[in-house]
Amino acid sequence: MHDTPPAVPDFTSWPSFPFEGDLRVKHLDDPVPVEPPRKGEGNRECTACAAPDDAYIWVGERWRVRAMDRPTGLPMVLILESRSHLDLGDLPNLLAAELGVMTVRLEKAVRSLDGVARVHVNRWGDGSAHLHLWFLARPYGRLQLRGTFLSLWDSILPPISEQQWRENLAMVAAWLAEFGGRPLAEPPRIQWQAPSSIGAQASPGPVGEDDGVGVIEAAEEIPEPVDGPTDAAR
Ligand SMILES: [Zn+2]
Repeated sequence: MHDTPPAVPDFTSWPSFPFEGDLRVKHLDDPVPVEPPRKGEGNRECTACAAPDDAYIWVGERWRVRAMDRPTGLPMVLILESRSHLDLGDLPNLLAAELGVMTVRLEKAVRSLDGVARVHVNRWGDGSAHLHLWFLARPYGRLQLRGTFLSLWDSILPPISEQQWRENLAMVAAWLAEFGGRPLAEPPRIQWQAPSSIGAQASPGPVGEDDGVGVIEAAEEIPEPVDGPTDAAR
């Protein structure tokens, strides 16, 4: 009867919506009867559990914080993870309480960076079963980036400079370390080499060895079919 796709929602005309032009709503696939396992579920390896501490910018007894593997469009994108392989609703009370404390602490640390107006905290969890919370910093003055499309804008904005990125990471790591744990991100070293563009090859450094960069890829990552190729995580 109604084969005509639904009209695009109002938000496509909001100033914060990153795209313009003629848009139409995608055809919706039929729901699958059984969803495929996420990373860290079924027989799929957990990237978080397999990652060594030096893939993080700060580590504590029960929590770890990591960055993307290269500068992002937003001034800061961080992920808070529990050490234990648990999902949000499965946290025991101690970890649940600490999650609140860590969330507040990290929000304040990121918000204290120069040029950051707001920090958005997100939890998706469709890609990995291991609890991970996203902290996305909105650049100050960029009113168009306000709200829920911020994660899209991260992939659209040009990356911040590597120098600035490393400084920001070091500051957040040092901030967290004042409460305990170990900071692993260091301030940028003296520039021995001429500044070079950050190409596809990530620079060596204290931060993640994750296979994705950018909020969208990682957060919306769809698990491969069970018999498909495994991801490139080492
Ligand atoms: Zn895990």
